[in-house]
Amino acid sequence: MPAALEDSSVPAKKAPTPPAEAAAAAPEKPSPPGSGLSQVQRALRKLGLVRDIDFALYLPMRYEDETRIVRIADTRDGDVAQVEGVVTECEVVYRPRRQLIATIDDGSDTCQLRFFNFYPSQQKQLAVGAKVRVRGEMRGGFVGRQIMHPTVKAAGTALPNALTPVYSTVAGLPQPVLRREVRSGLARAVLDETVPVQIGFRGAWNLRDSLTFLHYPTPDVAIATLEDHSHPAWQRIKAEELLAQQLSQLQARMERAAQRAPVLPPVSPEPDAASLHSQLLAVLPFGLTGAQQRVGEEITRDLGREIPMHRLLQGDVGSGKTVVAALAAARCIDAGFQCALMAPTEILAAQHFGKLVGWLDPLLAARGQRVAWLTGSQKKKERDEMSAAVESGQAALVIGTHAVISEKVRFKSLALAIIDEQHRFGVAQRLALRGKAEGHLEPHLLMMSATPIPRTLAMSYYADLDVSTLDELPPGRTPIVTRLVADHRRDEVIDRIHAQIAQGRQVYWVCPLIEESEAVDLRNATETRDELAGTLGEPIQVGLLHSRMPTAEKQAVMAAFTANEIQVLVSTTVIEVGVDVPNASLMVIEHAERFGLSQLHQLRGRVGRGAAASACVLLYAPGDSGRVGEAARARLKAMAETSDGFEIARRDLEIRGPGEFLGARQSGAPLLRFADLTTDTLLLDWARELAPVMLRKHPDLAQRHIDRWLGTKAEYLKA
Ligand code: ADP
Ligand code: MG
Repeated sequence: MPAALEDSSVPAKKAPTPPAEAAAAAPEKPSPPGSGLSQVQRALRKLGLVRDIDFALYLPMRYEDETRIVRIADTRDGDVAQVEGVVTECEVVYRPRRQLIATIDDGSDTCQLRFFNFYPSQQKQLAVGAKVRVRGEMRGGFVGRQIMHPTVKAAGTALPNALTPVYSTVAGLPQPVLRREVRSGLARAVLDETVPVQIGFRGAWNLRDSLTFLHYPTPDVAIATLEDHSHPAWQRIKAEELLAQQLSQLQARMERAAQRAPVLPPVSPEPDAASLHSQLLAVLPFGLTGAQQRVGEEITRDLGREIPMHRLLQGDVGSGKTVVAALAAARCIDAGFQCALMAPTEILAAQHFGKLVGWLDPLLAARGQRVAWLTGSQKKKERDEMSAAVESGQAALVIGTHAVISEKVRFKSLALAIIDEQHRFGVAQRLALRGKAEGHLEPHLLMMSATPIPRTLAMSYYADLDVSTLDELPPGRTPIVTRLVADHRRDEVIDRIHAQIAQGRQVYWVCPLIEESEAVDLRNATETRDELAGTLGEPIQVGLLHSRMPTAEKQAVMAAFTANEIQVLVSTTVIEVGVDVPNASLMVIEHAERFGLSQLHQLRGRVGRGAAASACVLLYAPGDSGRVGEAARARLKAMAETSDGFEIARRDLEIRGPGEFLGARQSGAPLLRFADLTTDTLLLDWARELAPVMLRKHPDLAQRHIDRWLGTKAEYLKA
């Protein structure tokens, strides 16, 4: 399913128009409230199919050719073929398991049909003597031609004159039902042109013809041009989509320019020893890198304006984003306002809290202020006390999980919101932030990400975002040595662990999430912990961290690891982001072939944070075929060859393609469903040029174009 459509499942608490309400508001299709929906309607909604136009734009993922009947004798092994013949045999056999086997004969040859799951009705349909039309993948086997689980119809009905679309669907929505819904949605949809001809599309394909063709292509089309989206009808659709994306981002930028944020000027143009900013710089145990200084200035400039900052801070793992965030917070507090810092998990938030409290709390205390801490798992009493400090303004800095933006929390004067690992926050949560500043003001927004997006992609995808990049690591880091080790050479890894611990160092051991079920994963991780504890022996302490553990327990384990009371920490990927224990110098990742490339890089970034030489061991298990799959091999190779996050991102993009690449980073933001930012560059250039012209000269048409393509999702783009 296209990731863009997942939006409909985002619980959009404060989002202006959640899809469900939009449905109720759509004039052509008044719907009862959620509870009254049929199963089919619910499934359609899950796919984002609400308005007629949504159906029209829901294009097939592939096609079946039911327009022809071929002679059995002319089919080759592997062909998906449609044949017609008379049933000559049909029986249920029980070797080795219950199955239905039928044979059909079309005069040219015979073909066996085999079903492991079947209904009595199918058996009846295949009665000896019946004439049937059968479709499926032809296998030339030992016993002659054979099709497993073919579709079977009565023979003799008229053949369709177009290819049959196959749509991506969900449980509860059978393909024929979805086809019917799309057909009627397409028939009803208003598909007039939104782009005036004088500035509009070149080429003969208009929107209606393109969509009709892509749903029901004529059989003479070269299928490859549909599959690679190069067909002129596809070009037209992709151009429309890119235009919608560019228009909506441009519009968002213009809207932001009209919004106002609190102006947070530096206290004085010269460094002022009395400012929190200067005092923080003075207590830091290190000097800033050039990149940190540059980015700090970019942020300072933004904060001094009345237009809300909307900046993405990209920096590889370990590049020192936290300090940059702390300095931005200090600027905000110096100007007399509050700052909120949010992290996606409690562990990560706790780490920030620990670090920032250490740096800032003494300085704030001298001003009668403090840092507050807000999370979901907090005791009510503590939370009430923190909330009160936020409301009174005594808490100049508020750190926590998304509890920070829960409706109950009221800020006295929020002016800056910092979001760490922004891609892990839902867009609805980012939207909720916007209501937290005073009056009509919007808070400045700084989003941080350790999974960089290549610059070109960022520019087209985040046309509405300014991007700062920390492209320099703090000095004194020794590069992490990465080794690929086959699973059966675990003993060597155990030796390495002993060696590290003998030097007073610590070790992470990461188990992959294997099963859908967290309980099973917990069992796996627990077994690994016990096994390692046994192998390593006393006095080495092996701890366990799993997402299923209660927060307090997780925090206790993290604290023990930070204090080196635990030397080896076995965990599932909960340590993925942000965790900072500089004494850890070895990272072992089990079943590394199962992780995504950026995820591996993030994990690896947990070591090499101190001065000690660090290593990362990627344990991999060859699959059933005795080999690791191609994509997995490319990922492992990239990990062994480079530790540069930007290079990793580039390779990740290459391996996965931009749709999936961005999808993994953007939970909830609408993605391009059809166009590809890296390959459709000509179309993108066209859309980029046209968008400002259209917004200026034809604002109403521009709005209609955005609504048509993005519907209620347009709001999410602005978050
Ligand atoms: P990330 O960008 O991954 O969030 P952190 O902010 O956690 O990185 O910083 C990684 C480590 O580097 C921390 O221990 C931090 O204190 C340290 N650090 C940050 N900036 C510098 C610097 N300029 N010089 C030395 N160490 C630094
Ligand atoms: Mg971080």
